[in-house]
Amino acid sequence: MTDADTDRYEDPHQRYSYKSPLIERLRASGGELRAGRVRVLTARTFGFCWGVDRAVAMVRDALREHPGRRIWLLDQIIHNPQVNADFKEMGVCFLRGPFSEPDRNGGLSREDVVVIPAFSATVEDIHMLEELGCTVVDTTCPWVIRPHRRTIKYVEDGFTTIIHGLVRHEETRASCSLVASRGGHYLVVAEQTEAQRVCDVITGALDKEAFLAGLSPGACSEGFDPDLHLEHVGTINQTTMLASETREIEAMVRAALEARHGETVGEHFRELNTICRATQENQDSVLEMSARGPLDLLVVVGGYDSSNTKNLTRVGGEEFPSYHVLGPEAIDGDVIRHRSPDTGEIVETRGWLPDGAFTVGFTAGASTPDTLLGDTVRAVLAAADVPREAVTAP
Ligand code: SF4
Repeated sequence: MTDADTDRYEDPHQRYSYKSPLIERLRASGGELRAGRVRVLTARTFGFCWGVDRAVAMVRDALREHPGRRIWLLDQIIHNPQVNADFKEMGVCFLRGPFSEPDRNGGLSREDVVVIPAFSATVEDIHMLEELGCTVVDTTCPWVIRPHRRTIKYVEDGFTTIIHGLVRHEETRASCSLVASRGGHYLVVAEQTEAQRVCDVITGALDKEAFLAGLSPGACSEGFDPDLHLEHVGTINQTTMLASETREIEAMVRAALEARHGETVGEHFRELNTICRATQENQDSVLEMSARGPLDLLVVVGGYDSSNTKNLTRVGGEEFPSYHVLGPEAIDGDVIRHRSPDTGEIVETRGWLPDGAFTVGFTAGASTPDTLLGDTVRAVLAAADVPREAVTAP
């Protein structure tokens, strides 16, 4: 590859800036370019959000400000393998998760610097760091603190917190641990099917033993009793969920409580949409881009663990094929390797490019560097046999 074929530079200073000339150009041209038979659209907003930008900058600052000291991440700083691999290359150690190397890095010590990621950390981890007495760099995004504040209020008022989130996601684990540490109760609900089970147990259509037996491990607090702990309920959501799904789940739970309590439902139900602005805008931008289209297909670039990226893929719904890819390596001519939004499995689809002229929309999760998106745009154009010199402004 020549320099013009990729945004991933050999020079580490350029590389870690994650700036892509192609994506800069697309932004400057209103998110559109034509190349041969392909019309490329990009969403109005995509890629690194404010919270991720800030977290990445804080790790870089920590490396600069603490030369000679070990810098640790509790786990991934954000859900993008490229960014975590880059930090590992810069000498950052990972306490756990796919990038940790316990044998090589040994344990934490008081002299170390530990970075709390943008998703926040569990109360147990925060206590562990306080007891150790090491230097802590807290990159928790302010948007994550909002549901935390609300859930503390729910606990104080005797309400159970229903979290629309993913039970294993770091942000949701942090919210759950906060509730439990204050003696409250929680229930994690990932999507409507699970919400329907909650509604059924509220209305008495589902036996509580059957309800509890069907929960995923970690989805409810210790000692959770549906008879006692679904009397007063407040909702929050992981900041990166699908906004429309949150609204549906809130409406479902409210309706179930209304069926049980009638006119006094207001005393039993509270809600707060805690989806962050970046997630909301990125989801809205996909719909706007679709209106600018029409799109023949959507390519969403981001880590497979990234909740907001997964949900961007779901925004297109049934309207056009949507492919969630890690980056340009996912595209090999006639074949695209992507994460299925239905099953979560990584699958390969052959013959994914339309014949003749077509419009492809691109967006990227809040933890995706522009460089990965830029290279993915190039890979799609190459797969469509567009010569490099055919890339022209509209
Ligand atoms: S996606 Fe939202 S909550 Fe997460 S870091 Fe970005 S702004 Fe903060």
